Amino acid sequence: MECIFCKIITGEIPAKLIYQDDDIVAFRDISPQAPIHILIIPRKHIERISDMKDEDAGLIGNLVLVGKKIAQDEGITESGFRLVFNNNKDAGQAVFHIHLHLLGGRKFSWPPG
Ligand code: 5GP
Ligand code: ZN
Repeated sequence: MECIFCKIITGEIPAKLIYQDDDIVAFRDISPQAPIHILIIPRKHIERISDMKDEDAGLIGNLVLVGKKIAQDEGITESGFRLVFNNNKDAGQAVFHIHLHLLGGRKFSWPPG
C-alpha cells in the first residue's frame, strides 16, 4: 500500500507517536503549523471524509474523543484548540488517508485562509 500514513501505522516510516489504541494512532505533524500540531488517524485506510460510511460513525466519534484527550494532555483545553479535517483539493488535502488535525498553542484566525 503506497500510503504514508499506513506506513507510519506499521512502523515502516518513523513518527513521533503520542497515542495508540486498537483503532487509532496519533503522532506529531512533520511540518507543524502551530506549537502543537498532532494528526489523529484511524488504522483503517479511508481516503477522505467524503468516503466514510454510516458504519464509520463510531470511529469518527472516537477520533474526536482522542483529540479531546490529547488536547487535555498537551494543556491546551483552556486556551483553545482547533480540530480540522481537510477533504479534497480546495481544502488542501495532501495525504489521502483521513486524519484529524489537532492544532493549538497559538491564536487562530477565523475565517480560515
Ligand atoms: P492534509 O493537507 O492532507 O490535511 O495534511 C497532511 C499533513 O500530513 C500535513 O500537515 C503534513 O505536514 C503531514 N505529513 C505529511 N507527511 C508526513 C510524514 O511523513 N510524517 C508526519 N508526521 N506528518 C506528515
Ligand atoms: Zn493509508
